[in-house]
Amino acid sequence: MKKRRVKKGPILILFLLVIIIIAVGIVVVLPKKKNSDTTSDNTKPKTETKKVSTEKKDEYSLREGEELIGKTKTNMHLTKYQGAYYVDGVMIVNKSYPLDSTYEPSEPYKEITSDYLYGPDYLDKTVMEKFISMKEAAKDAGYELKISSGYRSYKVQVDLYNNYAARDGKEAADTYSARAGYSEHQSGLCFDLNGTNKDFLETPTGAWVNEHAIEYGFILRFPKDKEGETGYNYEAWHFRYVGEELAKKLYDNGNWISLESYLGVDSKYE
Ligand SMILES: [Zn+2]
Repeated sequence: MKKRRVKKGPILILFLLVIIIIAVGIVVVLPKKKNSDTTSDNTKPKTETKKVSTEKKDEYSLREGEELIGKTKTNMHLTKYQGAYYVDGVMIVNKSYPLDSTYEPSEPYKEITSDYLYGPDYLDKTVMEKFISMKEAAKDAGYELKISSGYRSYKVQVDLYNNYAARDGKEAADTYSARAGYSEHQSGLCFDLNGTNKDFLETPTGAWVNEHAIEYGFILRFPKDKEGETGYNYEAWHFRYVGEELAKKLYDNGNWISLESYLGVDSKYE
């Protein structure tokens, strides 16, 4: 009997200790959970989380005739509008999101200028005006910029891709040339600069462009080591207009975040 009593003492203390630990645990962990809930949604009280996400959904206002397809991996709005795909209003053209074969820039800049390396070509009007500003600034800094390829029609891309595929095979051609409809050049929003030199950004002219392009709304569209995201090999010469605000976000001190990773989309042929 004595022995039993002696044993009960420590058991009771242990039991109490366990209860205290559990109680302390509940007091400490619960507020922490609440904290993490509020940080993930730091502007609104917890109870309004549902409302906030619906508000976010409605943040993008559709243009007339624009069709909402769904959300991207970064929770942005994927839409189709007048033969092109957009993510929160930014046009996306890649191996997953082709342009309609009939798509062409709605407001082309067709004045004949000396801005082209191989002769007259054209771009979307806004893009051409931004390019001219950039070209003038580059000239002041002592560099010459010329567009080697701007808008390319669906039909031109058919011939271009078929020639590459016949020469190198389809698999190889797909790493550097787009199939018709899948080329960003059909959008009129991009251009190749001063030829197609893979070391362009290491030249003084290219280094200037790499640093200043975002001031005119241009991004390096196919950055180094981002093939898995963009679906294309590095192209030091291909710049795309996205506007200054987005361009500055993607610059990342010259490390260039790919458009695909920012918008949360893939670039793969089906
Ligand atoms: Zn290009």
